[in-house]
Amino acid sequence: TAHPNSTEARDVRYHLHSYTNARKHEEVGPLVIEKGDGIYVEDASGKRYIEAMAGLWSVAVGFSEQRLVDAATNQMKKLPFYHTFTHKGHSPVVDLAEKLVSIAPVEMSKAYFTNSGSEANDTAMKMIWYRSNALGQPQRKKIISRKRGYHGVTIASASLTGLPNNQISFDLPIANVLHTGTPHHYRDALAGESEEAFATRLADELEQLILAEGPETVAAFIGEPVMGAGGVVVPPATYWEKIQAVLAKYDILLVADEVICGFGRTGNMFGCQTFGIRPDILVMSKQLSSSYMPISALLINEKVYGPLADESNRIGTFGHGFTAGGHPVSAAVALENLKLIEERDLVGNARTVGAHMQKRLHELADHELVGEVRGVGLIAGVELVADKAAKAPWKNVGALGTLVNGYIQENGVISRNMGDTLGFCPPLIITEKQVDQMVDAVKKALDTALPQVKG
Ligand code: PMP
Repeated sequence: TAHPNSTEARDVRYHLHSYTNARKHEEVGPLVIEKGDGIYVEDASGKRYIEAMAGLWSVAVGFSEQRLVDAATNQMKKLPFYHTFTHKGHSPVVDLAEKLVSIAPVEMSKAYFTNSGSEANDTAMKMIWYRSNALGQPQRKKIISRKRGYHGVTIASASLTGLPNNQISFDLPIANVLHTGTPHHYRDALAGESEEAFATRLADELEQLILAEGPETVAAFIGEPVMGAGGVVVPPATYWEKIQAVLAKYDILLVADEVICGFGRTGNMFGCQTFGIRPDILVMSKQLSSSYMPISALLINEKVYGPLADESNRIGTFGHGFTAGGHPVSAAVALENLKLIEERDLVGNARTVGAHMQKRLHELADHELVGEVRGVGLIAGVELVADKAAKAPWKNVGALGTLVNGYIQENGVISRNMGDTLGFCPPLIITEKQVDQMVDAVKKALDTALPQVKG
């Protein structure tokens, strides 16, 4: 079956793709990416794109970092695999644990390694449940997440995820998972409600939920500092402060899902620093290794570690772990990647070039098809509407985003449509000039779409 982006006809019948209209895909085929170079990727026909999503919010250092290739190759040659079960380990994972604890935004006791963001969030859930059992509080199992939050796709992590697409067809969420309101001022605030008043209302909503369930049954709250896949939702002023005050009142653990925000994205090493979040468990992946190799990790504080470690808990050792968790090649790549982020001050770049990106994208806010531009550092969302006053979609939700996203791709930039919000999350090495090229492509796409929508 021939498809447009390939130099040769490829048979597309044998690969089921994620989040893809399967029947349509049989006709059009995938955009086949063959090569990467800095912030660019190149498809099979030789067309080059700015990868403005860093390949699913991932590739901090760009797509052609020789030092990560060398780190992987050297580790492959020396020790291609070993595990971390039952008092075994290897140098890269020992060093990475030490490094992560040393750069944690709050005091943390231990690092624990898994292979994906979903697995890490499953692991967080099991640690929380184990802890409640160990503390003799077996009724304390409920975990509160947020509508539009994204925490992964396994049975447990998809339950935490608050997006209908990840739940309805799978009979999720499972028991003990609850969802509270989304901190999206543009969509969910009342007319004339200030950011602070909106944040207060969300904190009240959380407290009411806790009281209705019984505080003694609620173990933890999980949230992303900035929601990513839910449409780049930046919380309103004072939100995290107020949420944390409620959690502290009922002694409820806080899990920060830093899978997207971690390692510079918001202009600080962690999103927790940008928003004053003090988590008990911090979950990370993606930019940890720039996704050159799969790896994820949790940092846990003494409150979580103590009951897991304590011999007196009568439950036995923490019976959980993955064969490839903390894989030596992944850990070696992650260590080198963190070195690069520090040496090249990519966190500083996210702050300065990020400010430029926010400024340039905000210039689009006046466009007739743009409802809201939001973001911080090098992550942003541009929410599209057909009717600005009514904040109303074109045809159905997602149609305008798909249309404009297609034109952006034609213009040589890869962005991501979520609902009707276009996501921008370029590699942290992007320059101001490249940001300008990216924004020009977006502006041109909006102008191309306009007569179709308003015509
Ligand atoms: N948490 C967040 C905040 C994420 O953005 C993602 C992935 N987009 C995940 C968890 C799940 O990670 P993975 O796809 O590696 O399972």
